[in-house]
Amino acid sequence: MNYQSILERIYREIRPFAREGRQADYIPALAEVDPDKFGICIDTIDGRQYMLGDASERFSIQSITKVFSLAAALSIEGEELWRRVGREPSGTTFNSLIQLEAERGIPRNPFINAGAIVVADRLMSHYGDYERRYIDFVREICGNPTVDYNRAVAASEREKAYLNAAIANLLKYHGNLSGDIEQVLHFYFMQCSVEMSCRDLSHAFMAFADHRSPFRFGEVSLTMSEVKRINAIMQTCGFYDEAGEFSYLVGLPGKSGVGGGIAAVCPLKYSVTVWSPRLNSKGNSVMGMKALELLTTYTEESIF
Ligand code: GLU
Repeated sequence: MNYQSILERIYREIRPFAREGRQADYIPALAEVDPDKFGICIDTIDGRQYMLGDASERFSIQSITKVFSLAAALSIEGEELWRRVGREPSGTTFNSLIQLEAERGIPRNPFINAGAIVVADRLMSHYGDYERRYIDFVREICGNPTVDYNRAVAASEREKAYLNAAIANLLKYHGNLSGDIEQVLHFYFMQCSVEMSCRDLSHAFMAFADHRSPFRFGEVSLTMSEVKRINAIMQTCGFYDEAGEFSYLVGLPGKSGVGGGIAAVCPLKYSVTVWSPRLNSKGNSVMGMKALELLTTYTEESIF
């Protein structure tokens, strides 16, 4: 498969969409990113890497971090985790309060904000030095020891965290948060503020694409079945209220973030990350979705 020429063809064909959508601005620090950035990177199961555009530039991974925090929490708690958070698509926006209230503080899944805040709380309750241990795991899985949090982005999120703070309070009210609200929110925003490039993320997501290889990164280890189940949750819950559309158009498990990144896997074939900050009304990267739709069309490699 000539992935490089497929990437070049995709890049030419998505140019007409270059001005569609708007970058996230509810987090002030994200509004400062150049909206015209575009990068894409594929890692294949045979150890090759193909890339194009701004694939080596770091961006705010935002909700893509939720895949890593789920992996870390599952590794510690196993099935116990599912008493605190569900694994059904939410069918609502990622920061909805209404569903959380109706379902008495049990978030639908670990990839909406409420679910990830519960996961952050679970990690804190087990890890003493949780910020360092989380970033150690992320560095290990992406194979890049220089990856880090961006404290300015985390602070910028906290400043405008009206909805996330409301979510954390509702979780606490329903007894689904053991830690101190302010500390849990701080850790959650730190996780979202991690900056990685498409190359870092593709490398990291190979751990999910290649589920037959042992998943062991520092102190985080998962069984093959747990890795496949994380992929299942990515497939059904990874794209906000657009998981069905992504499944229909692209056909890969993945996770998006409001920084404009999307990381996805084609099990036992490749992992791919695309970054373009302009988002559609559901919060997913416009060019990113288009690029991945064309990728699975031209490679004829999706899970279906
Ligand atoms: N840090 C963002 C928030 O909590 C993450 C949103 C996202 O990427 O979905 O709103």
